[in-house]
Amino acid sequence: MCGIVGYVGSKKATPILIDGLLSLEYRGYDSAGIATIENDVIKVMKDKGRVNNLNNLEGINDLVGTIGIAHTRWATHGKPSKENSHPHMDNSGKFAVVHNGIIENYSDLREFLTSKGYTFISQTDTEVIPNLIHYYYTNGPVSVIEDTKEKFLGAVKSAIYDLKGSYAIEVISTILPDEIIVVRKDSPLVIGKGNGENYIASDIPAILKYTKEFYLLDDNEFAVIEKDSIRFFDNSLQEHNRAIKNIDWDANAAGKDGFEDYMLKEIFEQPTAIRETIGSRFRLGEKCSFDDIEISKEYLQSINKIFIVACGTAMHAGLVGKALIENLCKIPTEVDIASEFRYRNPLIDEHTLCIYISQSGETADTIAALKLAKAHGAKTLAISNVIGSSITREADYSIYTHAGPEIAVASTKAYTSQVVLISILAIYFAEVLGSSSETVLEELKSDLIDLPSKVEKILDDTEVIKAFAKKVYAEKDMFFLGRGTDYNVALEGSLKLKEISYIHSEAYAAGELKHGPIALIENGVTVIGIITNPNLLEKSISNLQEVITRGAKTLIITNQILPNGHFDYVINIPETNPLISPILSVIPMQLLAYYISKQKGLDVDKPRNLAKSVTVE
Ligand code: GLU
Repeated sequence: MCGIVGYVGSKKATPILIDGLLSLEYRGYDSAGIATIENDVIKVMKDKGRVNNLNNLEGINDLVGTIGIAHTRWATHGKPSKENSHPHMDNSGKFAVVHNGIIENYSDLREFLTSKGYTFISQTDTEVIPNLIHYYYTNGPVSVIEDTKEKFLGAVKSAIYDLKGSYAIEVISTILPDEIIVVRKDSPLVIGKGNGENYIASDIPAILKYTKEFYLLDDNEFAVIEKDSIRFFDNSLQEHNRAIKNIDWDANAAGKDGFEDYMLKEIFEQPTAIRETIGSRFRLGEKCSFDDIEISKEYLQSINKIFIVACGTAMHAGLVGKALIENLCKIPTEVDIASEFRYRNPLIDEHTLCIYISQSGETADTIAALKLAKAHGAKTLAISNVIGSSITREADYSIYTHAGPEIAVASTKAYTSQVVLISILAIYFAEVLGSSSETVLEELKSDLIDLPSKVEKILDDTEVIKAFAKKVYAEKDMFFLGRGTDYNVALEGSLKLKEISYIHSEAYAAGELKHGPIALIENGVTVIGIITNPNLLEKSISNLQEVITRGAKTLIITNQILPNGHFDYVINIPETNPLISPILSVIPMQLLAYYISKQKGLDVDKPRNLAKSVTVE
């Protein structure tokens, strides 16, 4: 996920591009770059670091081009560095491209282009795109087309046709130095219509100060943008008209895509984040594979214990990971809090695999716990959302969630992406080991693929949650109960509530409540129950009955059929394999914490005393 901007008009493009990038920095900020065209030559300036660094690049103010494309990156393939920053050019220097998204089949395309003599400067998936465009411009079916305009668009179309994955792409070329070609699929891109000038951006707020008239592109629709015209083409390059949209948003919403808070935006981004995290790691009927790692059967057979070590929300994702690994791979797995693990002399040796989870990859306790395991001869595997982050540099193996930047302090999309990624990892291990039947693994893959649309379904109707939040926002205590993975996700629901609504809450394994904490249940206390495992249905209902008898008010999040009239509020969620049901059942709890926090008038994105990336012990 990243931010892209484009401009074509009569003004100097660079300041407009940098200004647009600044408001898109929430989408990614590990490197930035721009390309403009002057005297039929493409000039690229880019570097690692924040967008503001561009202003310090020597010669940036001398760029006088009135057409340009720009990018602020959130690395997915290749660490943040100058050569991996966008824009990327083809070998001939005729085409420059910025790209938001992931090209899943980039290694096949790279191999193909290499066989044709193309060379690559970066490790990105993106760099195949300008070279493919060049390839089709000079070799493909479009090379026989005489008209340069059609030929350029035809080459872009042929290149796009080869791509698998998600993309929003801007292309400029010395061949037609007055136009920008754009296309998108599963990544956002909007076109703003000006007067004698036109704009492109990843979201509307980034260019809202220049225009209120927008075109919103469909998937696989192309647009050719010049200063006085914007033309639209379908994927067979048939030209069509597109209606303009007038947007009367408040420009202050910039960066939040029209959402009131980053957290809400990130909650709604979960279907995309899950899709991107699954990416090309498996397809039905095919074995899982990770571009980033390959782990041998011999090595996995030599492992007699796995530790999953993390803090906070990432630790809760680890708990679900334990259930997955033990069920599918039959390897004993322990979950540890990083700050405990590092000081408790855990039993680690070369037969232990230690998995570390951190959204930022900079969590100090987690890094220290990783170093400790290495010192004891264990292999380490990092799961992070940030390429090149500290834990990924230290670990023997690193795999990435593709959730995009998470700005709100309370983690939402990072959690669901971590659970998705660790599910894929468990399936991968099970396939390598042959420890679970193919049918079981295929069914789980199919359940994973169905998750994004199921999350969308939950997000479609938030009314019950809002109503419940209004009822309970003034309370002092709440309880979250569940069994199995429902207990794991109860811990996460309770943490969300504490973090942003400042309500004290406890999550308990439903069967454990009667061993002590049930003493706290009295008339009117709110209890949230999670029930998604048919095998534990009756036991869970009995435990909830115990609190209802003592006067508790209940909200149940479930995909099971419950006895009528038992519970005060019920939120029905779609069914899935209980091992991965936390990915769905957590959504209503994230929303509940959010709406309670709003109801109390708190700062949802920056809760008191907390920081996004905890780089202290
Ligand atoms: N996959 C591309 C890269 O790693 C684009 C990432 C982005 O959307 O920022 O460079």
